[in-house]
Amino acid sequence: MKVLVINCGSSSLKFQLIDAESEQLIAKGLCERIGIEGSRISFTATGKDKITRETPMPDHKTAINLVLAALTDKEHGVVKSLDEINAVGHRIVHGGENFTKSVIIDEDVIKAIEEVSDLAPLHNPANLIGIRACQELMPKVPMVAVFDTAFHQTMPEEAYLYGLPYEYYAKYKIRRYGFHGTSHSYVSKRCAEIMGKDYNDCKIIVCHLGNGASISAVKDGKCMDTSMGLTPLEGLIMGTRCGSIDPSVIELVEQKTQMTTKQVMNILNKESGVYGLSDDISSDFRDLEDGYFAKVPGAVRAIDTFCYHVMKYIGSYVAVMNGVDAICFTAGVGENSPIVRKLVLDRLGYLGLTLDEEANEVHGKEKMISTEDSKVKAYVIPTNEELAIARDTYALCKNLK
Ligand code: AMP
Repeated sequence: MKVLVINCGSSSLKFQLIDAESEQLIAKGLCERIGIEGSRISFTATGKDKITRETPMPDHKTAINLVLAALTDKEHGVVKSLDEINAVGHRIVHGGENFTKSVIIDEDVIKAIEEVSDLAPLHNPANLIGIRACQELMPKVPMVAVFDTAFHQTMPEEAYLYGLPYEYYAKYKIRRYGFHGTSHSYVSKRCAEIMGKDYNDCKIIVCHLGNGASISAVKDGKCMDTSMGLTPLEGLIMGTRCGSIDPSVIELVEQKTQMTTKQVMNILNKESGVYGLSDDISSDFRDLEDGYFAKVPGAVRAIDTFCYHVMKYIGSYVAVMNGVDAICFTAGVGENSPIVRKLVLDRLGYLGLTLDEEANEVHGKEKMISTEDSKVKAYVIPTNEELAIARDTYALCKNLK
């Protein structure tokens, strides 16, 4: 069964075609600058060279049309006709409290996704456009919605409530939801497999450290807490997002700079994090690492502060779970930055965790990075959100008539 995975952003669309039985990637690609001048599509069939083409993409429907054309292209394509695509899995950012797992898309599901769009105004509408466009172009193909928030729906009330008037939760559903759920679920399951432990009987902390970053505490296969909140702005310091701050900062910055709330929010989302801390050096850890080793003060400040916060969350999640068996690092920074992992793990000796310095040099590969005799284990586990989406889609669609 071939599953097309679609991840629709506001101006981009990532896609992968995966053979669900063998879990092999058949092709992948990216549409960029949808609705903006200079849009282009890139397409890579597994084992072949990447092809990039500039072409107008006024909307997502055009983009999906181009994706389907690329997949079926006589010369470079990977399937003879669209009939070979058996199901589509859509990544949906916010499922609110409505969705605790992936579901087959029907009109009720679309309505429920629309209803929580005010919780993710930049993402959910784009995700819905992607669903509608696929439905129009492949009306007979079953589609599945896989939610970033679903894995975190097991958090207990004490973890998801804010210290706000309760009616804000009751009336407006203002609470912590968490994101990157597909990744936290995939990596924690894989970690239990590697350890040879029962997923439903172990304590795992997953550090998803990419441009967006979040940490979760997974106990006995259930998410107990995670660092992102109502939106992805809460929690860790990220590439350009500030993470958790005192809400009074917003009012004070408004007073001092005459900016509007919208402008300040834009700064908190796009000009803060390690980028802001480094005094505008970069939001990219590759640049910051170069600066760190050259002792550039802004880069040292940004990396040290980032790692301090990761370490602090890990400590609090050990408390949440009353212990930990393993700590996993994933996503762009987690998979590729030995110095970030070292700065975090060297401070966790009190847990009985010892870093294996040589193993920690790994980039982008699955590896245990704690010593054999380390009481708490540490791993690098590359995430694969697309494969997790394909797995859920396959599980829900394989027995459909
Ligand atoms: P992601 O959001 O998971 O795609 O992660 C993207 C981020 O990972 C980039 O912005 C970089 O900060 C970081 N990254 C990617 N490759 C490396 C690398 N080799 N070393 C350090 N950081 C990296």
